[in-house]
Amino acid sequence: MSTVNSYLIVAGLGVDVVYKDIKNLHISVYPPVGRVRVAAPQRTTEDAIRLAVVQRLSWIKRQREQLQTADRETERKMVSGETHYVWGQRYLLDVSKSSGAYGVETKGNTLWVTTPSGTDATGRFRALDRWYRRELKAAVPALLKKWHPILGVEADRFVVRRMKTKWGACVTTSRTIWLNPELAKKDPRCLEYIVVHELAHLRERGHGEKFVALMDQVLPNWRARRDDLNEAPLGHEEWGESERA
Ligand SMILES: [Zn+2]
Repeated sequence: MSTVNSYLIVAGLGVDVVYKDIKNLHISVYPPVGRVRVAAPQRTTEDAIRLAVVQRLSWIKRQREQLQTADRETERKMVSGETHYVWGQRYLLDVSKSSGAYGVETKGNTLWVTTPSGTDATGRFRALDRWYRRELKAAVPALLKKWHPILGVEADRFVVRRMKTKWGACVTTSRTIWLNPELAKKDPRCLEYIVVHELAHLRERGHGEKFVALMDQVLPNWRARRDDLNEAPLGHEEWGESERA
């Protein structure tokens, strides 16, 4: 693929840039964390991209606020019949059972969240959130075991931490990888991509050419996995020079 990717910080905002054979520049804000992505025509200058982002900053912030509000609304409801995702599969929530102990399990296409009677939506949400974190924690060690020898670097530990704008992070000084619990809702291939991406930062900081080359070498389909992770942009804007022909 001829696509060149880079990463910019504009007004404190992390922005993924993808150059494509398109005529107009597009900015998208992706759920769940409000990641910002710019698709730019080939040969767009970095200054032009920065300017475009700055000009749309209030729109971007509005999209991100809406995402966070949507999150809070989901937390409030937690009623039977809602759709929830586990490892990329769609389930219907059922909260009709109560028990002395908290329990979460998937059976068929039902996600059972069992709580002591009298538990409110927030309590049910927290029970489910704890379960997602446990699911993620259980899945990561096998991935580290697989990828440490391939990348020739090792993370000393990983932590599951909710982040508003990132799926993962790598603290190189303590060789720690942070993973967003939202990853337990996505296809496991997405988690693997994030684990590989963050481990790769132990070899290459930033998202420059060397980093991209390393990702291409060890995980050639990483772009498809990343796009899966960020599908269904919440907001989308388009502008640029007027289309000719
Ligand atoms: Zn990164």
